[in-house]
Amino acid sequence: MTEHTLTVAGVAVDTRHWIGGRRVASAETFTDVSPIDGSVIGEISRGTALEAAAAVAAAKAAFPAWAATSRAERARILHAVADGVEKRIEELSIVETTDNGALLRSHRRGVMPRVAHNFRFFADWLLKLEHEDFETRGHTNHVSWDPAGPSVLITPWNAPLMLATWKVAPALAAGNTVVLKPAEWSPLTASLLADIAAEAGLPAGVLNVVQGYGSEVGDALTSHPDVRRISFTGSVPTARRIAESAAGNLTPLSLELGGKSPLLVFADADLDLAVDLAVEQYDNAGQVCLAATRFLVEESVAKEFTRRFVEKAATLTQGDPRHETTDIGPNIHPRQLEKIDAFVQRALAAGARAVIGGHRKDTQYYAPTLLTDVAQDSEIVQEEVFGPVLTLQTFSTEEEAVRLANDTRFGLAATLATADAERAERVTAQLVAGTVWVNCFFVRDLQAPFGGSRHSGVGREGGTWSFDFYCDVKNTVTAPNGWKNH
Ligand code: NAD
Repeated sequence: MTEHTLTVAGVAVDTRHWIGGRRVASAETFTDVSPIDGSVIGEISRGTALEAAAAVAAAKAAFPAWAATSRAERARILHAVADGVEKRIEELSIVETTDNGALLRSHRRGVMPRVAHNFRFFADWLLKLEHEDFETRGHTNHVSWDPAGPSVLITPWNAPLMLATWKVAPALAAGNTVVLKPAEWSPLTASLLADIAAEAGLPAGVLNVVQGYGSEVGDALTSHPDVRRISFTGSVPTARRIAESAAGNLTPLSLELGGKSPLLVFADADLDLAVDLAVEQYDNAGQVCLAATRFLVEESVAKEFTRRFVEKAATLTQGDPRHETTDIGPNIHPRQLEKIDAFVQRALAAGARAVIGGHRKDTQYYAPTLLTDVAQDSEIVQEEVFGPVLTLQTFSTEEEAVRLANDTRFGLAATLATADAERAERVTAQLVAGTVWVNCFFVRDLQAPFGGSRHSGVGREGGTWSFDFYCDVKNTVTAPNGWKNH
């Protein structure tokens, strides 16, 4: 324990950066606050361009040895990281819940086991990463994946460790070294991950963590000439700034951004299933990039769908995310709540009707909201709110449903409720979305491509797609008689 250690729900968390295998403090700090009740958790090192540059230098220094480490050894260490995560699921869960307000039961049972799985999956995938050789006029083509180099990974607060490790695990598996910059609203579990990785035997400098405000450390990381990859999950405006900053070095970018995804409910759907899928959209207090926040419901069933939705939504419990029976927790920050409420009040002023909600409960919690009488070109239909705010519109033909579904600048996901397999196929083919779920929601396999179209992102993560991004893919062509005939 040092003056830089916080005790969060009984768990010791170091508040400093993790650079080159050492804890490094900044002169300044920023205050980390719990969304559960607005209480101060503690002071966290507030990174500057100096620490950002030191972290990139550490990642650069560690790169040659890590890149040269055998696949089997890298995989072994990643499995050891997964073991460490599994041993600390309880601690990681309570710290994450305290820090970002998402449900403790979800962290314990779903999210943190999944964090461990992220490491196991990419460790195993690495071992079978192979492209079959092929011939061109007797010449052999051999495809290999070379580690690209130091990678900057910048992540948001809505699922901090989960989203960070989607990137950290494949980047490390690929043989890259990493500088992770977690969101300033949820900095704690990244610090615990640094401890776990060190205990698992990850060499110094292979994983570095820089804390602080994106506006203060971001540019130093993303414009750095030694950085070979930047993977970012967050908002569109930040993505634009990162793209500009990275442009000087043409650093390849992976961007996982926002969404305004539709839930299409056709008259032939199992309405109870459709309502279950609809109510799920309040998960994590609506702070889910993939959330299907726009309900598009066939006119003939809209009244009944709404009735059942309201009935079901009334059974949800909102409150302290540490309680086992809570379904909806707080929003991340009073500022986020203000933003959410401003969206809703502007929509109401423009003629929307709140079927449920439409107001905040206090400074931390927003009432689950469903708005109708919203125009397709209105702000509330077009822009991501990132809170428990859903809209409902109706359609009368399949063509209209597809047109409305595609009519935003986003293209992250879409969910369909229909009992007609041919319709599902027809509609899916026309939707602009990185993921389409048919009669289900949020099922995600790490070997599947994940990402968005249009303003929802650039590139895909998952399985081979992750390795394609984090590596310099090389094709070697060898003459029929090998090197001897040259
Ligand atoms: P944000 O863009 O404000 O911040 C994300 C990260 O970027 C933070 O770590 C922040 O410090 C950093 N950052 C800010 N300015 C920066 C700069 N100039 N240079 C470099 N880094 C900078 O986003 P947020 O509010 O934390 O997250 C919410 C957004 O993330 C929503 O739009 C949501 O849809 C999106 N999101 C997308 C996915 C996905 O996979 N598509 C997943 C989760 C969240």
